[in-house]
Amino acid sequence: MRLVFECVECGGHYLPPENMSYPDGPASPVWCSACQGAKRAEGLREDPLLARVALAAARAALARRAADQSEPVAAQGRGDVRPSRPPLSRRARSGPGGVRGKLG
Ligand SMILES: [Zn+2]
Repeated sequence: MRLVFECVECGGHYLPPENMSYPDGPASPVWCSACQGAKRAEGLREDPLLARVALAAARAALARRAADQSEPVAAQGRGDVRPSRPPLSRRARSGPGGVRGKLG
């Protein structure tokens, strides 16, 4: 899955190639291709710290999206976010009721 970045210059979201490199050079985690091109033309480079933070944020967002997608469909669309009640355990099924049935 590709990482989605938010351009710090124009605020737009963009998806650089998975290998983080454009045909004409490395992709920036802080600027979209358009802004990166403009910055490069101005002779500016991305802040390495900002780039690291942006990369970490994009990875975290990706992990969040992956977690959202793996959630069961039944849990979606409900206001209640608590985990649903688990199915009856074996212990619950073989409780006093079952014993009484055997005795009777
Ligand atoms: Zn931009």
